[in-house]
Amino acid sequence: MNEVELRESICKLGVRLYELGMVAATDGNLSVRLGPDRYLCTPSGMSKAEMLPEDMIIADGQGQLVAGERKVTSEFFTHLAAYEERPDVMAVIHAHPTYGIALTLAGISLEAPVLPETVAMFGGIPTAPYATPSSKEGAEAIRPYIRECDGLLMDRHGALTVGKTLMEAFMKMEKLEHAAQICYLAYALGKVAPLNSEQMRKIIQARTEYGVSSPMYGVER
Ligand SMILES: [Zn+2]
Repeated sequence: MNEVELRESICKLGVRLYELGMVAATDGNLSVRLGPDRYLCTPSGMSKAEMLPEDMIIADGQGQLVAGERKVTSEFFTHLAAYEERPDVMAVIHAHPTYGIALTLAGISLEAPVLPETVAMFGGIPTAPYATPSSKEGAEAIRPYIRECDGLLMDRHGALTVGKTLMEAFMKMEKLEHAAQICYLAYALGKVAPLNSEQMRKIIQARTEYGVSSPMYGVER
């Protein structure tokens, strides 16, 4: 994709995040790595449902505005932390998915391997410790986790996913929240057993056969 297409794609996926209820008001941000020290990102203070391609900003690796009419979001440092830790990823999405956040409020983790497709995509889904939203402390809080997974929850705040493309990062966000919804229901219904070691072995084998090389959080391989 060229830069024009990337700007359009960010706007489209912003609308989809909004329609899925994963962002309210001006919540959330999407970014793409354009090249060394250049990132295309959604601006500060805009609804993700209302953005136009020309609203995007370009920032450098220090979080300074390089191009665009609007302001760099304070959450851009969290995106930068993800790009720094993961040279292999090209896109980062941060949203505030309802079920995912609710589970963190209740102190319920998504790390346990219970859903095979979630395990295949992420391994376990960790929860980064609480930090003030939009702070540099929040950016530091995700580093040790994003090194080892493509999606995580941020305690009392939201979720962050990464991908080789914007669409991949978006689908991971959708999948993460879907898993949170399923687990919310299942844990409300009763006891949920984790996958056993033989089931886990087969998932890991299938991943290898499909050539999936993304990290698996907390899974012995
Ligand atoms: Zn946020």
